[in-house]
Amino acid sequence: DSSSPFLEFKTSIPENGLVLAWLTRDNTKPIRPEPGSALHTRFGSFQHGSMISSKYGTQLASSSSTQAGFIYLLHPTPELWSMSLPHRTQIVYTPDASYIVQRLRIRPGSRVIEAGTGSASFTHALARTVAKTGRVWTFEFHEPRFQMAEKEIEDHDLDCIVKCSHGDVCKNGFIPAFEEILDASAVFLDLPSPWMAIPHLKKVISKDKIVRICCFSPCMEQVQRTIEVLQKEGWLDIEMVEVSCKRWEARKEMIRQPEDAIERLRDIKRRRNEGLRKRNERKLAEEQNQEALSEAQESEEGGIDSGSTARESGLKRKAEEAVSETAAEEEATTPTEKHIQDKPFLPSEYNPWGKGKRVHEGEAGYEWKDVSKVEAELKSHTSYLTFAYLPPPFPDKG
Ligand code: SAM
Repeated sequence: DSSSPFLEFKTSIPENGLVLAWLTRDNTKPIRPEPGSALHTRFGSFQHGSMISSKYGTQLASSSSTQAGFIYLLHPTPELWSMSLPHRTQIVYTPDASYIVQRLRIRPGSRVIEAGTGSASFTHALARTVAKTGRVWTFEFHEPRFQMAEKEIEDHDLDCIVKCSHGDVCKNGFIPAFEEILDASAVFLDLPSPWMAIPHLKKVISKDKIVRICCFSPCMEQVQRTIEVLQKEGWLDIEMVEVSCKRWEARKEMIRQPEDAIERLRDIKRRRNEGLRKRNERKLAEEQNQEALSEAQESEEGGIDSGSTARESGLKRKAEEAVSETAAEEEATTPTEKHIQDKPFLPSEYNPWGKGKRVHEGEAGYEWKDVSKVEAELKSHTSYLTFAYLPPPFPDKG
């Protein structure tokens, strides 16, 4: 069905269409806008009415008069869905999902078996990849979880691609809800005892194509038992992988000369001396001011004539002016500006050791080198991934 937002991009938000409201980096809420309803968050309230017919990607301001927050109205994708779905189990996150999909060589038209369905996070990634010409059979033995997944898949218009079945694959094998030939060429097992499900696979996988498998297990003991059974069942090229996902920040750093560093040290010294000089000047001016004040006071107390009083108050004013001039000068001429005036740098020029023109990363006219920095690990349910493949049976030589 072409109407699934997970398969085709829609430009504007339909009434009751799925929107992923991005509140913060770790908080994305799935909503279906209906006239008269609102989304209430700690960033304010957002009227569903203003979402309908807006473009996906719109930044929506809160309608509350007291809270000036905003949210983004995002188009559903399996990646964003993994961040916003209601968790019913541990889920497979995008870093693992993308690796598994490419290692199992899943592509449009692929036929895939998945067990268990869990929160159907990986199921969405599979559905988007196999697309309209492919199939995903997903099995879950926990009945409420199976029902929720089935409903969600239906709500997302993915039920033509994804077939949800209720059953214990370890005990009974992979029996689809509707009788069908699965003929799958990729298998993903995310359950506690994959080694118990593996022997059942031969009945449902392709007989004429290479079949690839991935088992997702958090403990090494589970991996060992899985590998033993895979070997026994004839699976080849068994390999265990752990995805450790890190974000790498790549940027350009300006190449600076040793003279820049030396000049920077000189600049610090110059600025310190300048500061000391200003402090002494200020102290001197304050002392002079104090002297002038006490002189003026003495004259007033001694009953000196009005001409003298005028002279003294003039003196007092002059001293006050001296102090404020020094302070103003100090404010107006920061050491760096002073330094730039002394040196052949104009304030608009790039100053390699401090204030001056702001240089943008990679700007022409400067020397740059590419550097990278590793950031903290991304959120990913760390499990061991065991991969293997099963070749098709050799043709009969007759
Ligand atoms: N991959 C899923 C996702 O991305 O949302 C999460 C799967 S969850 C960790 C494991 C699921 O396997 C649980 O929902 C559990 O009920 C189901 N399960 C465990 N053993 C099973 C079995 N023998 N047959 C079918 N489902 C099983």
